[in-house]
Amino acid sequence: MNRNVFRNLSYGVYVISTLDGERHTGCVANSAMQITSSPASIAVSINHDNYTNSCIEKSGKFAVSILSESTDPGIIGTFGFQSGKNTDKFADVKYHVSGGIAVLDDCCGYLVCKVIGKLETATHTIFLGEALDGDTVGRTPAMTYAYYHNVVKGKSPKNAPTYIPEEENAPAASSEKWVCGICRYEYDGDVPFEELPDSYVCPVCKQPKTKFIKQ
Ligand code: FE
Repeated sequence: MNRNVFRNLSYGVYVISTLDGERHTGCVANSAMQITSSPASIAVSINHDNYTNSCIEKSGKFAVSILSESTDPGIIGTFGFQSGKNTDKFADVKYHVSGGIAVLDDCCGYLVCKVIGKLETATHTIFLGEALDGDTVGRTPAMTYAYYHNVVKGKSPKNAPTYIPEEENAPAASSEKWVCGICRYEYDGDVPFEELPDSYVCPVCKQPKTKFIKQ
């Protein structure tokens, strides 16, 4: 099977947040969809290895912050490429709390849900949530997963359902390239990577130039 066919499905980019006891935590997901309109319900798919999964299980609540094309890509670095187990992901982002759950300010809309069902798969839990609150924020279009790949030049975290191993994904190995060792962002600027200032940081995860690896 050509797994690249899954790239022809449309996805967004979302931060799914929940509570770890009294602490806010969350992760990036690209699989969220509306299931019914009355009562309004949505489903999200969260990898078993994401700390957020067990926290949703315990709290019975989650929120979906819908990222927009203008959302700071650093948010994807923070929420998509670090674990909430040992990181306070909300330490440096602006958010507000709705129904007890943190919602990012830097998004184009959000939904706050209570869990009303779930389905287990080999790797992911699909949580079904009934929306308790929700609103649109600003007028910037939602970030699609294609936009994230093609414009932001971001990659899939390993836990994403859409993750495809690099060897299957890349048509052919080209000449050397510099790749962020944290989020796997591939530098493609006009200035040779070696000539970038030391102050250069990864545009996706904000890690320093020293974290890049030549491949
Ligand atoms: Fe990075």
